[in-house]
Amino acid sequence: MPEEFERQCDLVVTALEAVADRLAEEKETLTELDSAIGDADHGANMNRGFQAALEKVSENDADDPADVVKTIGVTLVSTIGGASGPLYGGSIMSASQELEGGITADSSVAFAEAYLETVESRGKASVGDKTMVDALTPAVHTYKKSIEVDDLDPLEALAKAVDAAQRGVEFTTPIRAKKGRASYLGWRSVGHQDPGATSTLVILEELLAVAAEELDGEIEREIDAEADVDPAELEAESPGEGDD
Ligand code: ADP
Ligand code: MG
Repeated sequence: MPEEFERQCDLVVTALEAVADRLAEEKETLTELDSAIGDADHGANMNRGFQAALEKVSENDADDPADVVKTIGVTLVSTIGGASGPLYGGSIMSASQELEGGITADSSVAFAEAYLETVESRGKASVGDKTMVDALTPAVHTYKKSIEVDDLDPLEALAKAVDAAQRGVEFTTPIRAKKGRASYLGWRSVGHQDPGATSTLVILEELLAVAAEELDGEIEREIDAEADVDPAELEAESPGEGDD
C-alpha cells in the first residue's frame, strides 16, 4: 500500500498542477464573468488560491493522498477569500476524509458526494439558484450513477460528469441568481453565466484531462480485455453463425 499511496500522492499533485495552470489561463474570463454579476474578483481569487495550494503541497512531503487533498482544502480556505473560498476550500477539506483508505472508484464517489453536501450545507444554495451548485450537482449525480449503476470505469464516469457540468453551466445563464452577490442584482442577473459554476467546470475538465493521461494505460487494458472476451461469447451463443 505505501507504494500505491505514493503514486496517488503524485497523481493528486499532478492534478493540482493542471488545475492551477488552467485557472491561471482562465483568470481573465472568470473575472469578466464576475464583473457582470459580482465584484470582478473570482478569477483572481481562484488563481491566488490554487497557486498557493500548489506551493504548499510542493513544500510538503506527505505520503497519504487524503493528507495532500486536505492540505489543498486548508490552503484554499485561507487564500481564495470571498464566498467561494470557504465553499471550495472547506468542502475539499472535509471531503478529504473519504480518501483516507486511498483513492478508488468507490472512495472517489464518496469524496464527490461529501464535497457536494458540504457546498450545499455551507452555501445553502440548491440547483436553480445560479451558483456553482448548478454545475456540481449534475456532475456528482452523473459520476455516482455512472460508477454505481452503469458500472462504467472512473474515466468514462468523469467524462460524463464533465458533460453534465457543462450543461449545468449553460443552465445558469438564463436564470436569476438567488444566492451570493449576484442575487443583489435580481432580474438583472439573467443572461449572464455564473462564474463559480464556470470555475467548477474548468476544474472538472482538468481532472478529466489528468485522469485520461494517467489512467490511460489501465483503461486501455480493460477495453482490450473486453474485446478479447466478446467474440468468444458471441461464438458460444450463436454457433454456426459468423463465417460469412
Ligand atoms: P464573492 O461573491 O464573495 O466575490 P467569488 O467571486 O470568488 O466570491 O465567487 C462567486 C461565486 O461563488 C458565484 O459565482 C457562485 O457560483 C458562488 N457562490 C456565491 N454564493 C454561493 C452560495 N451561497 N452557495 C454556493 N455558491 C455560491
Ligand atoms: Mg466575486
